[in-house]
Amino acid sequence: MRLKDYRHTTISKNLLSKHNKSCILHTIWENKGISRVEIARNTNLSTATVSRLVDSLIKNDKLLEERETIAISKGRPMKSLYFGNNERFIIGIDIGTTFIRGMLTNMNAEPIKEIEVVTESLREPEYVLNKVVDMIDRLSNTSMVKRDQIIGVGIAVAGTVNLEKGIVVYSPAFNWRNVQFYDYIQSRINLPLFFDNVNRVMALGELTFGKGNEYDNMICINVGYGIGAGIIINKKLFYGTDGMAGEFGHVPVAGDNLIICACGNKNCLTAYSSGDSIAQRVRLLMREKSSEILMKLCNSKPEDLTAKIVGEAFRLNDPIARQVFQQAIFYLGQSIAGLINTFNPQVVFIGGGVPQSGDIFWEPLKEIVNENVFDRLSTKYQILPVTFLDRAAIYGAIGLVIKEILNMDI
Ligand SMILES: [Zn+2]
Repeated sequence: MRLKDYRHTTISKNLLSKHNKSCILHTIWENKGISRVEIARNTNLSTATVSRLVDSLIKNDKLLEERETIAISKGRPMKSLYFGNNERFIIGIDIGTTFIRGMLTNMNAEPIKEIEVVTESLREPEYVLNKVVDMIDRLSNTSMVKRDQIIGVGIAVAGTVNLEKGIVVYSPAFNWRNVQFYDYIQSRINLPLFFDNVNRVMALGELTFGKGNEYDNMICINVGYGIGAGIIINKKLFYGTDGMAGEFGHVPVAGDNLIICACGNKNCLTAYSSGDSIAQRVRLLMREKSSEILMKLCNSKPEDLTAKIVGEAFRLNDPIARQVFQQAIFYLGQSIAGLINTFNPQVVFIGGGVPQSGDIFWEPLKEIVNENVFDRLSTKYQILPVTFLDRAAIYGAIGLVIKEILNMDI
């Protein structure tokens, strides 16, 4: 009985210490440069407890550093706490359908090394995953960083995921079904590994490092090769029952049978508004109607057409490009209005390649959303580009690791 009580107390103490450390880390993350006394005030912990745990976070966990600064109001030296730049490092990877991008950063997400390779997404899963493993090895092989200083690896992957089983359940873009993702990579890199669906990861990056930090409720939409969304409610990612929340690209909008979505359905938003569908639709129309502008922009190779080229042709007043692009924005705008009417977010962030077409994307999109939002007079929302543009998913992957560190789960 005594032994049991003793063990119980030890476990509680450890849990309490972990919880308090997590509180302190969250406080410093939100208020970089804060002092020990201010942390005690913010967290309601005693100054003695804060000092003991901060010492441990500096010396043992090597997550923090204390810098001497001059307090402006009082003119005397004070010590401010920051996440360290030189002891712990993070790797973030974005497995896109075109490129795999990776970045090594310090604890403040400042880039140290970046690598990009072509994905070859239609090769077998092991081939793509080996490229990821190889990239992690190359990123961690630098004179500045020792492998054991890398505290974790975060990965963004397209498709639905089962995080408990560590598998990618279904990825239409890669043609993957039930790919054993976590075990395959983890057994080869032997570092703490975290992964999630790319759209959720982008939303997390926006929340952790971007303008999204200022909001509690937001939706982050990716309009690239495919379309998806990450939903944040009260500063937390929303997963849904099966982790499928955010499959926004498969919202049914209309069905003209011209393009079949990669999921097999005909009515999906993706079949109208994704970068891939925009290019495919233009290609189909070019078979019926010639277009000098489009032919010139794609060097007479319609198979090389991209949504970016369609955007350029739109600016040159090409009728096919205009028709397809406007239709894409019409269905996207209506669907986003549907999201706003359902979730009432403060802000909708949009990232991916298609929004990079500029004003021809943003201006009509905002108009269509506004026309379809319920009670325009009292619904307040903003539509903004994601903070990190084409690096949004990599920052999000770094954010996956930061989230675990702040919760002291590594
Ligand atoms: Zn679909």
